[in-house]
Amino acid sequence: MTDSRERLKEQAKKDGIEFFMALGTEVNGKPCASVAPAKYIDSLLDDGAAFAGFAAGGLNQTPADGDIAFMPEASTYTRMPWRPNMAVLHASPYVKGEAWPYASRVILQNLLDKIKSEHGWTLKTGMEPEFFLVRRKEDGTIVMADALDTSVKPCYHAYGIEHAWPFLSKMSQYINQLGWGSPAVDAEDGNGQYEVNIDYADAMTTADRLIFFRYMAHAVAFQDGQGIIPTFMGKPFTNNTGTGLNTHLSIWDDNGNNLFQDDQDALGMSKLGYHFIAGVLKHSLGIQALIGSNVNAYKRIGVPHPSSGSTWTPTHIMYGANNRTTMIRIPAPGRFEHRGVDGGASPHLATAAILAAGLDGIARELDPGECLQERNTYTMSQKELSGYTRLPATLWDAANALQENEVIRKALGKGPHGDFVDFFAQEKRDEFAMYHSQVTQWEIDHYLMG
Ligand code: ADP
Ligand code: MG
Ligand code: MG
Ligand code: MG
Repeated sequence: MTDSRERLKEQAKKDGIEFFMALGTEVNGKPCASVAPAKYIDSLLDDGAAFAGFAAGGLNQTPADGDIAFMPEASTYTRMPWRPNMAVLHASPYVKGEAWPYASRVILQNLLDKIKSEHGWTLKTGMEPEFFLVRRKEDGTIVMADALDTSVKPCYHAYGIEHAWPFLSKMSQYINQLGWGSPAVDAEDGNGQYEVNIDYADAMTTADRLIFFRYMAHAVAFQDGQGIIPTFMGKPFTNNTGTGLNTHLSIWDDNGNNLFQDDQDALGMSKLGYHFIAGVLKHSLGIQALIGSNVNAYKRIGVPHPSSGSTWTPTHIMYGANNRTTMIRIPAPGRFEHRGVDGGASPHLATAAILAAGLDGIARELDPGECLQERNTYTMSQKELSGYTRLPATLWDAANALQENEVIRKALGKGPHGDFVDFFAQEKRDEFAMYHSQVTQWEIDHYLMG
């Protein structure tokens, strides 16, 4: 700790840092920040950045509760490429000196500590950030930022990259400058939708990077002054492909061996990896509210194919080989991809959820059953599909399924206000109820005349 503090001070001096930002999130991944001039670094590291937890929202705090302190970690020092005199320190919420168990980053840290101390394992993840670039009109509705992208097959379209290049090039340069590695940028399946790749890393680093990435995307677009908004929400446009946060996972031992890799297996997946996958399949209903945690996420899964021809999103609990129609895909030896995580999810909570489910699969040596290989599951008959469980249709259903899952309940922990899952499920039912109380244009169009 002291070592990393000294290293941070040295690096900050070298970099000419004048400000530090403590950056944490509430439970859904909203970035919460406080900025201190560099000379206050010791008190920032010792006392954290104090917030009224209720005002930040999503932290299971009332207006009467005392301050919540976002405690920055010196080892997460990340200089802002677009503002070189400021550095971010990722932070976790603490209450009365204890890590707050209703915060996503704390829940993930607890699970990562557990696998490290019990097994010597490190979870590594690669998360694929997709996003749309949009503009907001005066009436509040949104349009694609690139009005010229009207292609019926926009995926990988060179012109899509061309039109967004001022934004995309900065993102790519900045990520590589940060040393994260960004091997590719492409136009995605929706008009005005893009993906910027980031190399995999240990799971906490990747989740922190995702929060930083979203912030950086916002900053780059904002500084451009063109009124462009990058959005990570799952389904901003009815007729376009939604936005996911595909998550690739593998578990490594202390000697640098990937324990999910087995070259004897046809797909290069080890027994441990298959047990993990089996756990994720088994608890998919239970973790759905954690990987798709707002009402919009459910408009991306199990809906008709958009104009490009495919949702690229799972509808049922299945796994396959290098197959983008199944919820779990094994694209290469030694890792699998979860394709059900919503673009707007908290990367910390989604990772914790998948890990909690997978660990149960390992503990009970579960079998994932039939691998659908490269079968197009989108064209399966209703009869065939009846053998598989469908993902929940709404946040309400998902919240109830979470609350019923004893394994996930136990794994995500509890605190002074009770079990995390009870807090979260109630928040999500309230969110759904608020949304559900709104009458939409669709209802008027369909029901007005009987
Ligand atoms: P896709 O084919 O799903 O679009 P991408 O190439 O966009 O895949 O992203 C794959 C992600 O998986 C990258 O972030 C990559 O670094 C990551 N990845 C590669 N190997 C591993 C591994 N062993 N464990 C976790 N993530 C990995
Ligand atoms: Mg990709
Ligand atoms: Mg993609
Ligand atoms: Mg993918």
